[in-house]
This record gives sequence, structure tokens and C-alpha cells, in this order.
Amino acid sequence: MVLTPPLPPLPPLPSSSSSSSSSSSSSPPPSTSASSAPMGDEAKSSGVDPKLFLDSLSTQSLLEELNRRVECGKKAPRRYILIGPPGSGKGTHAPRLAYEQCGLCHLSTGDILRNVVASGSDLGKKLKATMDAGGLVDDPTMIEVVKTGISNPKCTRGFILDGFPRTVAQAEKLDLMLGESKTKLDGVINFKVDDKLLVDRIVGRRVHPASGRSYHVKFAPPKVEGKDDITGEPLVHRSDDTAEALNKRLGKFHAETQPVINYYGTKGILNNINGDAPLAKVWEQVAAATAAKK
Ligand code: ADP
Repeated sequence: MVLTPPLPPLPPLPSSSSSSSSSSSSSPPPSTSASSAPMGDEAKSSGVDPKLFLDSLSTQSLLEELNRRVECGKKAPRRYILIGPPGSGKGTHAPRLAYEQCGLCHLSTGDILRNVVASGSDLGKKLKATMDAGGLVDDPTMIEVVKTGISNPKCTRGFILDGFPRTVAQAEKLDLMLGESKTKLDGVINFKVDDKLLVDRIVGRRVHPASGRSYHVKFAPPKVEGKDDITGEPLVHRSDDTAEALNKRLGKFHAETQPVINYYGTKGILNNINGDAPLAKVWEQVAAATAAKK
């Protein structure tokens, strides 16, 4: 079975509005900011001619970006795990972390599985039934997904695993895989959010499947109701984002994934962060937890 994850986008160019004094590290992240203008590959996928987009940037911005990429080329690869219950913010912060850490692969196992479901294959139908019911997909399938993902040549700068490992068996297998390639994890970031806050977050969540951008009908509405801010394409309400499926997913999280958090705690690479804070405050904690590793 071959499950191919979507390839990660190249780090985006800074926004055309950045002034000559702005530094590239303060550029908006690629896809977390629902209000950002199309950038780099995003511009391409949204139909904006990348050449015209480049022309609109100041020479200063282009030089800063070039410089950033040269500096990035000198940095060692980084490997992180984002862990936490559904709706805790992993998928929101992963793209920004990927960008700030010089273009890491963002491997969201949920997104990869949803791509297989969208293909309509027999495997996709089986996965959909499990996912819609809030269950966990079996370990061998998940290990295959991640093995394919992290060995992709596009991930040589490192990766962010979002949604994996969810069981201790997956964590142990990941350790074996990393050991075989003589690599290791640089950190595990645990997004702590109280269960009772997650229901509102999940039931009101709307996503743009192609980019992974997510919105919330109340807390982070799109500019036009039901449409992605960048492409104007329709947003979807995930079929497992219901109160009923969430209940089951939370049950699985406490039973199967909390032991994974404990597992990384004993290895000394766990960073607990408070995910129940405004977005900027959560990002500060993610940045602090990964700062020494830049
Ligand atoms: P969440 O918002 O719950 O974190 P994801 O998008 O990460 O959701 O995953 C959606 C669903 O995909 C999960 O509920 C589960 O059925 C399946 N899934 C994703 N990653 C894994 C994994 N590592 N192990 C088992 N099942 C997984």
C-alpha cells in the first residue's frame, strides 16, 4: 500500500506590504493567517501569476528573503511533534512553525488520510467509516503513512508531525524509524486545552481542504461566509467535527494519546504549552519551545 502525503509548499515570500525595515522572520505565516495576501506557491495555486507577484515586491523584500533562504540553508534539520486533543491548535500553528524553521514539512496525518478518503478508493471508504465515528485508524496503516511522508526527499530539512503518534506503539515505531536513519526528535509540543472548551472550537470549525486553512464561524470567521479568504473556494464542515464524534475522539485521546505524552515526558523532550490563550500568546509559547533549536 502506498499512501502519498501532499508535498509541503516552499517557504513563502514576504508580503508585498512589508516595509524596508521589516525582517523576514516577522513576515506573516503561510496559511495560518486567514487574512494574508497570496504568497509564493500560494499565489500560484490561487491563480495569481507568480511573476506579477514577484514584480510587486520591493527589491529590499526580495533581498531579505534571499538572505533568509541562504541562512536557512546553513541550519541543521529539525524534527518536531505537535500533540494535543482535537481542536487544540496543532494545525493552526504548524504552518507557521514550518515557515519560521526554514521550510519544514508539515505532515498532518488527518489531512493525508482525508486525501485518501477523497480519492474514493476502497481504502478511503474504510478510513472514512473509522474517522467519521471518531475512531483511530490502525497502527500499521499509520506507520506506513508516516514512513512514506518523512522519507520524502522534500522533507530533508526536517518535519513537523501533526496527529502522529497517537498511540505508544506508533511512538515506539517512530523511534525505531528515526534510529535507523540516525536522526532524532528535537522536541514534542503538547497543546493543553480543557475538554470543555473544545466542543465549541470543533463544532464551529470550517476548513479549506486544499490548503488546510481553518476558520471558526464565531471566533475566526472568513471575510465572506463559507468561502476561503485566499481562493474564494467553499469551506467545509468536516464530517467528524460533530459533538458526538468529538466525544469519542476525546475518549481516544485520553486513553491512547495521553500515554504517548507521558512517554515523551520520560525522554525529556516534552514542552507543555497552554493552548487556551489568544492565538498570539499560544504562538509565543510555541516559538519559545523551539527557539533554541532554530
Ligand atoms: P483532530 O482534529 O482530531 O486532531 P486529525 O485531522 O488529526 O483530527 O485526524 C482526523 C482523524 O484521522 C482521527 O480522528 C483518526 O480517525 C485519524 N487519524 C489521524 N492520525 C491518526 C493516527 N496517528 N492514528 C490513528 N488514527 C489517526
